[in-house]
Amino acid sequence: MASQVAQERIFNFSAGPAVLPVPVLERIRDEMLCLPGAGASIMEISHRSKQFIAIHEQAKARLARLLNVGADHEILFLQGGARLQFSMIPMNLLQGREQPAQYILTGSWGKSALPEAQKVGPVEVLFDGKETNYDRLPDISKLAIKPDASYVHITSNETIQGVQFPADLDTGTAPLVCDSSSDFLYRPYNMDRYGLLYACAQKNAGPAGVTVVILKKELLERSSAELPGYLNYANQAAADSMWNTPPTFAVYVLGLVTEWLEDTVGGLEKMHALNQSKAKVLYDILDQNPELYMGHARKQDRSLMNVTFRFPSEEIEKQFLAGASAAGLENLKGHRSVGGIRASIYNAMPSEGVQALASFMTEFAQKHG
Ligand SMILES: *Cc1c(COP(=O)(O)O)cnc(C)c1O
Repeated sequence: MASQVAQERIFNFSAGPAVLPVPVLERIRDEMLCLPGAGASIMEISHRSKQFIAIHEQAKARLARLLNVGADHEILFLQGGARLQFSMIPMNLLQGREQPAQYILTGSWGKSALPEAQKVGPVEVLFDGKETNYDRLPDISKLAIKPDASYVHITSNETIQGVQFPADLDTGTAPLVCDSSSDFLYRPYNMDRYGLLYACAQKNAGPAGVTVVILKKELLERSSAELPGYLNYANQAAADSMWNTPPTFAVYVLGLVTEWLEDTVGGLEKMHALNQSKAKVLYDILDQNPELYMGHARKQDRSLMNVTFRFPSEEIEKQFLAGASAAGLENLKGHRSVGGIRASIYNAMPSEGVQALASFMTEFAQKHG
């Protein structure tokens, strides 16, 4: 991007909607007026057109390849964000059942998912990290997971607190339901472990407007015909996510991001290695300056996506944010519910951005340490 606009791009540590890969943005720009073969933009053509159908199928196929999704799972593209899934999941998988859904609360998003399920059916809380201000994950082997639970719900990455499950959990015969909104596609997954994995796109996979739901086909049998049509997974699966007009632009960008992951990054193992090395750069600085950069998450539970820390005083925090902003490092303020700093370093955050933040943090520590 040689233009002046490109030179004005900041290093964007926003938690979401968040940074997208520059090659994806360039491709959108190049195809904005005329999608190849369509003679119009992606936003101006029918979702039944052969161009859009190809985009939709490609996006699904690339997701399936990246995540090794087999024939026993269905991939849906829905709207309403992750929050609609907080409701759709219990409406489809819990309504009318006696066996409880079990929730593991490791931060703000899990806490928000819980009351939506309680409106629908029996729910148990297996773990609540409240006592330690959601700075850690539970030892799963010590939790009373019921083999016949309707499902077990986790949040793989708590975006606000910055705690993340580093591997796929094994919940046995109880279907694992995972909110992966802020770490979708950050590493390879063992999809056999997941009854249902869902993610809004606007953190790690694309723009706001589309939410990916990948669920085991056998779970579709639970969806009651009494449910409103849009909210019924079986209905959505039968219509290949086109029961109503899908968010065509968002699906197109999601497809371009999966293409970037496959063809430019080289797959999710490479993406994972990059994410590990980016996060290490920042956590090393926290560990070297623990009195200035007070990390929120317990060390072994740290997120590779959202690096959260506080300062000994609000005055230092203000100076940090002002200095960072002057250096082109933006959107570092933590969520209003927890304060402090949050550096979101999703897949699309380039290493140069992390290096620039690291240099700034090292210099700041020399002045304030
Ligand atoms: C952002 C976020 C949500 C909410 O997503 P919406 O699309 O705004 O509904 C839910 N869960 C997690 C983990 C998130 O990061």
